[in-house]
Amino acid sequence: MPTLLRREDALARIRQEGGDFACLMCALRDGSFGPLFLLHQDERALVLLPRYVRRWGHILVLLREHRTSFEELSEADWIHLARLARHAACVIERTLIPRRCYLASTGSSDGELTQSSTHIHLHVIPIFQPDDRPASVFSWSEGIYPGDDGELSELLACYRSNWLMG
Ligand SMILES: [Zn+2]
Repeated sequence: MPTLLRREDALARIRQEGGDFACLMCALRDGSFGPLFLLHQDERALVLLPRYVRRWGHILVLLREHRTSFEELSEADWIHLARLARHAACVIERTLIPRRCYLASTGSSDGELTQSSTHIHLHVIPIFQPDDRPASVFSWSEGIYPGDDGELSELLACYRSNWLMG
């Protein structure tokens, strides 16, 4: 389990890693922002472990094409993302046994930011504390957990063993 890093320190670290991209999600898709902890990929989407998380076990479902609004997103793409996100939530439940999984399409409303993107994506986040709330989980203001490569590889292996889609 990684240790909590202050938001400012995490942003500085990401910038140092070369994390200022025209699109963070496209950079993740292309593997140009650090190692990629890829759980699943197909012609429409990728499912991966983000390296900076608010709750350990976080899974990111990412549309392969650069789309920034639901108007631009085909119904077939949305259904595919939703199906993958539900499956990711099931895998989290099976693997980590959280109290609950939060599932949300968030993203930046202020253009492309260091830690947030306009590119359509879904977060699947396990919740382990009964008093945890979305306002805290979906913000970096209370800090962020940077997973190291070993921890992320270990988690990825656990998820992969439970991933098989029907
Ligand atoms: Zn993009």
